[in-house]
Amino acid sequence: MSDIISTKVVTTRKSHACWGCGIKYPPGTRMQADTTVDDRIDTVYWCPVCQEYWDRHFEYGDEVMFGGLRRGDPEGWETIRQELEQREASG
Ligand SMILES: [Zn+2]
Repeated sequence: MSDIISTKVVTTRKSHACWGCGIKYPPGTRMQADTTVDDRIDTVYWCPVCQEYWDRHFEYGDEVMFGGLRRGDPEGWETIRQELEQREASG
């Protein structure tokens, strides 16, 4: 199992696929970047929907496969996506 050595929210300069949902987001998206060290250093990116989904359903140390959050629960994921969209629209 890999350890997270840093977590930060970044505005991406390149397009990155979100680890949780597997969707590719364009440059300029605010995403959480988790840097992990296993036998090598790696960074995975999380979109806001997956960050929220993770907070509600998972705990530190849980592991998901690439794209697994959305694949495992497409409806629950979509519900959160809509919630965030509305929150954004209402300011
Ligand atoms: Zn995502």
